[in-house]
Amino acid sequence: MKMEVLKREKRICPCCMEEHEVKTVKAKEQATFKDRQVDYDAVYTYCDAADELYMDERQIQENDIRLKDAYRRAEGLLTSDEISDIRSKYGITQSDLCTLLGWGGKTITRYESHQVQDRAHDTILKKIYRDPEWFLSLLKDAKNNFSEETYQKYLEAATAFYEEDQDQYLRKAIHASYARYRGNILFHGNSELSLDKVVDVIKYFASSTKITSLYKVKLMKLMWYADALSYKKRGFAITGLVYLALPMGAVPVGHNSIIDLKDVPCEEVDMGETNAYHFFLKDKTSFPSLSSEDLEILDAVIEKLGKMSKDEIVSFMHKEKAYIETAPKDVIQFKYAKSLQI
Ligand SMILES: [Zn+2]
Repeated sequence: MKMEVLKREKRICPCCMEEHEVKTVKAKEQATFKDRQVDYDAVYTYCDAADELYMDERQIQENDIRLKDAYRRAEGLLTSDEISDIRSKYGITQSDLCTLLGWGGKTITRYESHQVQDRAHDTILKKIYRDPEWFLSLLKDAKNNFSEETYQKYLEAATAFYEEDQDQYLRKAIHASYARYRGNILFHGNSELSLDKVVDVIKYFASSTKITSLYKVKLMKLMWYADALSYKKRGFAITGLVYLALPMGAVPVGHNSIIDLKDVPCEEVDMGETNAYHFFLKDKTSFPSLSSEDLEILDAVIEKLGKMSKDEIVSFMHKEKAYIETAPKDVIQFKYAKSLQI
């Protein structure tokens, strides 16, 4: 039998009861479990004197779990570690997860060791891993079974994953709406769309003390100017956004989704008839996706346009060749950047 030595240790040998160097070894094993033949690595103690493999109580337990995990893998079921990882994701205890799912109190503990879960339960565990929204709805239903503190802890963990998920969906949707422009250099300014840069550019503007009252219309203009100036100076835009010529000037495709992205410091302000979107960031922050050259360009835009009111910046934009030459609702091409007013 092929064995791999994992450890050597001088101690009383549990096999021959003499003191000598005892090896811990790993060996390939084959066993049949539930009519399926499975291969797995088992760990033994090896006695050179008796030339015998021996398992202590702990090794018997662990080898049984290795066999069960090999079976689980072969059947496409979650392994014991993967089940424990699902709990770790939400920071939930074995018995609390049982409570949440309406299962017997020891079920998860058993699944994380010797008992192979049935397929229906396996599917539920996979779903709860992928679907924090479902976790949240189960948690609300089971609220009375938990202390307030425990409930809050699980609520926070699952909410964070839920928001992360939502952001990923939103990012996918924005990228999908950009698919038709891909490869058209004059539309996206020779840069691939980077939503990380989009978020950082918005954060940079929102945190600038040299920009007065930053609402959505003004923000969209500043973003276009930043990309256009970047293209004028370097031959490529910062964000890769595609802008349309709307009555108030340039507006990026997907603007409503963009301001919903995670970490965009956007606050909805009730203005009576309508809502306004205010962008403001008080705390010091970093802009990891932006280069120092990017930041210089943003600073140049802030210098020229930061103090303009919304009406001033809209009428300034209306004088751009890029705007005048573009038919209403058409894509504003970056070829006009060379005649930019700034
Ligand atoms: Zn021995």
